[in-house]
Amino acid sequence: MQIAELDTIDNLADGLSNYLGRDQVNSVRRAYYYAEQAHDGQFRRSGEAYVSHPLAVASILSDMHMDHQSLMAAMLHDVIEDTGITKTAIKSQFGNTVADLVDGVSKLNKITFSSRAEAQAENFQKMAMAMAKDLRVIMVKIADRLHNMRTIHALPPDKRRRIARETLDIYAPIANRLGMNDVRVEFEELGFAALYPMRAGRISAAVKRIRGNRKEIVSQIQTSLEACLEREGLPGRTIGREKHLYSIYEKMRSKRKSFSEIMDVYAFRIVVDSVDTCYRVLGVVHNLYKPVPGRFKDYIAIPKANGYQSLHTTLFGMHGVPIEIQIRTEEMEAMANNGIASHWLYKSSDDLPSNAHLRAREWVNGLLEMQKHAGNSLEFIEHVKIDLFPDEIYVFTPKGQIFELPTGATAVDFAYAIHTDVGNSCVACRISRRLAPLSEPLQSGQTVEIITAPGTQPNPDWLSYVVTGKARSNIRHYLKNQKHSESVALGRRLLNKALASFGEQVDSIRQENIAAVLEQLKLDSLDQLLEDIGLGNRMAYMAAQRLTSKNQAVTQEVSEPEQSGSLAIRGSEGMVINYAKCCHPIPGDPIIGHISSGRGMVIHTDSCNNIADIRDNPEKCVRVSWDPEVEGEFSVELKVELENQRGFIATLATTITGAEANIEKISTVERDARFSIVNLSINVRNRVHLARVMRRVRAIVPVSRVTRVKSRRVRKTIRNKLGSH
Ligand code: MN
Repeated sequence: MQIAELDTIDNLADGLSNYLGRDQVNSVRRAYYYAEQAHDGQFRRSGEAYVSHPLAVASILSDMHMDHQSLMAAMLHDVIEDTGITKTAIKSQFGNTVADLVDGVSKLNKITFSSRAEAQAENFQKMAMAMAKDLRVIMVKIADRLHNMRTIHALPPDKRRRIARETLDIYAPIANRLGMNDVRVEFEELGFAALYPMRAGRISAAVKRIRGNRKEIVSQIQTSLEACLEREGLPGRTIGREKHLYSIYEKMRSKRKSFSEIMDVYAFRIVVDSVDTCYRVLGVVHNLYKPVPGRFKDYIAIPKANGYQSLHTTLFGMHGVPIEIQIRTEEMEAMANNGIASHWLYKSSDDLPSNAHLRAREWVNGLLEMQKHAGNSLEFIEHVKIDLFPDEIYVFTPKGQIFELPTGATAVDFAYAIHTDVGNSCVACRISRRLAPLSEPLQSGQTVEIITAPGTQPNPDWLSYVVTGKARSNIRHYLKNQKHSESVALGRRLLNKALASFGEQVDSIRQENIAAVLEQLKLDSLDQLLEDIGLGNRMAYMAAQRLTSKNQAVTQEVSEPEQSGSLAIRGSEGMVINYAKCCHPIPGDPIIGHISSGRGMVIHTDSCNNIADIRDNPEKCVRVSWDPEVEGEFSVELKVELENQRGFIATLATTITGAEANIEKISTVERDARFSIVNLSINVRNRVHLARVMRRVRAIVPVSRVTRVKSRRVRKTIRNKLGSH
């Protein structure tokens, strides 16, 4: 009869009077009677009167010391949905806040989905939105789900599975986010048992089987830990932790570990009185058993996003048994178990401020502090959200899969999070169905679609805005490989060109000659030599000379190499061919290649001032020409002088894009009231294309002159001088 006794409104009210005022307790009672009447004649599947469910939900919340409005909402949470009563009716009886809470919970209940993926995404978004309005909606919803899970055996199997899966997919992660570990564990255990009864049964039986064997080792370790703390005069309690079934199952599944591998680890928690003692205990246990390198984590100094604080370390116990140890204070323990619920749990004990509480409750205090400063509850919740999820955003694939990314992450980070191949071949993205730049930082709740194209490659520019390690390392890795193969290819072409003056080609050189030269140069492979040449670290002509000399010792003087033929630039060489920013060469311009050490080749126009001094030096410059099939777009600078006229920039821009040229940059330098100069940087295919663009621009009425800027050096100096005044 004891259980039935607990489940009465009188019992609940008794408990509530420990932390709520009489008026508040009475309004909770009033809500109960209202619900009892509303649900009159309704029964749960277990046969109990329906009102037993809202009562149980309220009592879960009372264990968390939730406020009277949350408890009233808990009593009424199924009234709108299951009885004919409206929100307006609740509002007139219990006020705005309670009505809004009930409405919020009801709305969460109503969501139905066509697919599981959609369910996951939609649900999460709805949860996030509900949370943004009032965190208490989620607390009521969590308590509701908890009671439904505790009584899930009464449901038919298919409904049981659906609810269990949703609990594992949505509610357990949310409880985790909110730091409510006890609730999370209960969700996982109940969900696992309901969704996979066979698997849960097998693991449970296996755990029971080995518990006997473990018992002795556990108590040995526990005794030695306790003795050690005692000896050092450090007060604390040591708890042996047993892994719960779902976490064993998840580890077996995701980390592909065997049951015995997981169970061979012994886990303990040491709970102490102060932060100071935590670190002392750490020192002491590291003395007792050897720590496993790289396993120490200080979540006290750097708490987890959900407020979790603790020290973690792993030790080699006797016979090399791994021992996982968590060290924390009582307050951290309470935070770790209750998370956001501590916000309410501790609120009432504020009249008895114990110094020990204060430090570990910093997070909760911080929230209360914010609540004081925040003008309204919405603002407060906004802060709480940032506090709970400070560094994370949640975005969705078009199919509804959720990805968690750090703040500031872009579509490129997202693409790499999906798969390395997606990242490597992404070319564009749609953020919430709108085409957006790849560099745009993503926001929580957005749906991101990555557009890929085969044969594309990562852009080095991405490195300037990606934030995840995965994206960064993958891009670097790709570019490194790419640069390697591109420089080998360019090196081969340069070497072939140099060899041509000796009547040879790389492929016709005898293997012994190659081997001998590689040895002289202390290189491991021909590819290395070619890469060196392609990167500009080694001269092609010198290498050609060595490779063709009959006598391996190079005695003959380096004669002025004769430049024979020229290297054709195809526009598709990649990172090892760059186009000079001073003279902006485009196909059709006479050009020259400057070998720049480590960077490969920089193409200048033949007449560029910057190249004038070295253009005849064969060690530094290579004769090059445009391949007739050259592809790509090339940047070129234009100066447009025109008469001021309203909207001339727009006219200019449409004219240029109308001629199929992209505008990269546009800036106006006003000369006087009547005339302006516009500097443009545009992309064109070649000189013919450029001529067409210039002709069209010249035809615009206010334009008086259009010139291509050939070398920026002189202009730069003038600008610098002007700038220094
Ligand atoms: Mn319910």
